[in-house]
Amino acid sequence: MKQVQNSIPENCICVVGIPFDKNSSFLKGAALAPAQIIKSYFSDSSNLWSEKGCNLEAIEHLYDYGDLGFKIGEDEFNTLTNFVEKVVDQNCHLICLGGDHSVTYPVIKAHAKKYNKLNILHFDAHPDLYDTLDGNIHSHATPFARIMEKKLAARLVQAGIRTMNGHQLEQAEKFSVEVHEMKDILNWPHEFQFDGPVYLSLDLDCLDPAFAPGVSHHEPGGMTTRQVIDIIHTFKGQLIGADIVEYNPDRDINSMTSMVAAKFLKEIIARIYEDTN
Ligand code: MN
Ligand code: MN
Repeated sequence: MKQVQNSIPENCICVVGIPFDKNSSFLKGAALAPAQIIKSYFSDSSNLWSEKGCNLEAIEHLYDYGDLGFKIGEDEFNTLTNFVEKVVDQNCHLICLGGDHSVTYPVIKAHAKKYNKLNILHFDAHPDLYDTLDGNIHSHATPFARIMEKKLAARLVQAGIRTMNGHQLEQAEKFSVEVHEMKDILNWPHEFQFDGPVYLSLDLDCLDPAFAPGVSHHEPGGMTTRQVIDIIHTFKGQLIGADIVEYNPDRDINSMTSMVAAKFLKEIIARIYEDTN
């Protein structure tokens, strides 16, 4: 993974950090995540091969943009949408490292202009379908309500959910969201299937806190790291972009969670590379 020098080259796979946690409702800290995840990605404790045999060091067109800069007083969502729009327009595949989960809405907004039948595969403990939370329509608990009401996705498929409530169930029904809750894990599809482009939105709290303590919301009863990797490997469809969000370094123990995020990053890069080559 090379550093971007002047501008992002065309036709590349690019990792970008979004140091933003203003819309986190319970704890701040996710803004510090991207640099830690990159540090774990390059940690000498592991290597730079994906599990399925892709040597990430040999991918010529893989770039690290570093953190996106925000100026004081600007509208961060606009900056983010404009940035992503430019990058996907030059046929690049973007992997955004959050940041809190609110960033997914401005990122999807840009992708939806390029991909008119976008599928979203969303891993999370939470449906993030609130109409508003604490008076904030852009809370990290609302991005998928904004995405679905603006019809930015053909399908939204959620997995790992274990905090469904009455309001969000109504929202899920209203927007025809396909929700796979943890309580039903024995009945999940053997293979997740999509027709066409797939954007993966990976909230690390989809995992049981035993696997990923470095998140703001500890919700017991979650997925294993293995289950998430297996779905990244096996789902049918073309992976065109992704985000890994909600890592909170303040809550981590011995970089356990940033290593999990870095592992997911490796497997996601490899899957995008396989799907586009
Ligand atoms: Mn979330
Ligand atoms: Mn969550």
